Amino acid sequence: MKIMVSACLAGENCKYNGGNNRNEKILQLMETNEVITVCPEQMGGLPTPRIPSEVKSGVVMSRDGRNVDREFRTGAEKCLEIARRELPDLIVLQPRSPSCGVKQRYDGTFTGTLTEGAGVTAELLMKNGFRCIDVEDLEK
Ligand code: SF4
Repeated sequence: MKIMVSACLAGENCKYNGGNNRNEKILQLMETNEVITVCPEQMGGLPTPRIPSEVKSGVVMSRDGRNVDREFRTGAEKCLEIARRELPDLIVLQPRSPSCGVKQRYDGTFTGTLTEGAGVTAELLMKNGFRCIDVEDLEK
């Protein structure tokens, strides 16, 4: 199977705080499948580490009040380009991220409050017909 994954799940230090979300299930998948890693926020031109961001009323804003929507959407478009070229059977993403979250994301208030809805990359990929799941739903 060909699988696209959030790069932080594969152990890449691309998370906003310079760390990663290394996940054993993803590492196992990498042993027996073709895995493509993407980090839409880095691909959109944002540095690592970076100020965390959330989606508020459809616009991505950083915690210090900057509009980073363009960078997030550029990264999402680049992921879509890769998906169209590589045609992954499945896309496994980091939950609750403003880019990668599939089912939920933070609500834009920076209070740790979750809301229904995907991050901008997951949303774009799903709108274009790609099957995306949060890594925590991988075994279901
Ligand atoms: S944008 Fe996605 S891949 Fe990059 S650090 Fe955030 S959750 Fe991980």
